[in-house]
Amino acid sequence: MQLKSIEIIGFKSFADKTRINFPAGMTGIVGPNGSGKSNIAESIRWVLGEQSAKNLRGSRMPDVIFSGSTDRRSLNMASVTLTLDNTDQFIKTPYSELKISRKLFRNGDSSYYINENQCRLKDITDLFMDTGIGQGSLSIISQGNVENIFNSKPIERRSIIENVAGVYKYKQHKLTAQKEIDQTVDNLNRVDDIIHEIK
Ligand code: ATP
Repeated sequence: MQLKSIEIIGFKSFADKTRINFPAGMTGIVGPNGSGKSNIAESIRWVLGEQSAKNLRGSRMPDVIFSGSTDRRSLNMASVTLTLDNTDQFIKTPYSELKISRKLFRNGDSSYYINENQCRLKDITDLFMDTGIGQGSLSIISQGNVENIFNSKPIERRSIIENVAGVYKYKQHKLTAQKEIDQTVDNLNRVDDIIHEIK
């Protein structure tokens, strides 16, 4: 699996439609301070489902939308699309190419897409679960991340190791199953109450 390109429109400092290609091998992005290098890394985290505005150096999610400059009005929408080559089937899906998109409007409307079909955030999270790429993964190390890991509490560090080891996915499945069990127990109790009332 390989990241082929990113298309950014209206995300942070990228007011104009910007496409960045990642040919095979290593790609370095260089530029002066404040030119938007970190914004590119953040756009990847965002499209993969980042939910915390703080993790994107903002206070509210609409802060990621281009807020205007001296010669440009602010925009109403941010959109990011990642194109991934999946011919090796690293991500278990019938598609050999995956386009993952996220859009956000200033009024808060937001949507996610897999290959241009609207989907839920959960579909994207599930797609990348256990691949080491998804939201919160360590495939993107932001400025300050390394220091945070060193300073993290043992329980936080454990969750990082579990994530890397692939245990996280099973913990999520366990949580979902436990919720369903609790719901079923509640339903059974309710049925018992009704039977008791009828008797
Ligand atoms: P450094 O090398 O100093 O880390 P950088 O190249 O990583 O810098 P970024 O931090 O990605 O730069 O970009 C910061 C720039 O993005 C700032 O000029 C900031 O004003 C701009 N910016 C951030 N959010 C928005 C937004 N919503 N609208 C317009 N510009 C924004």
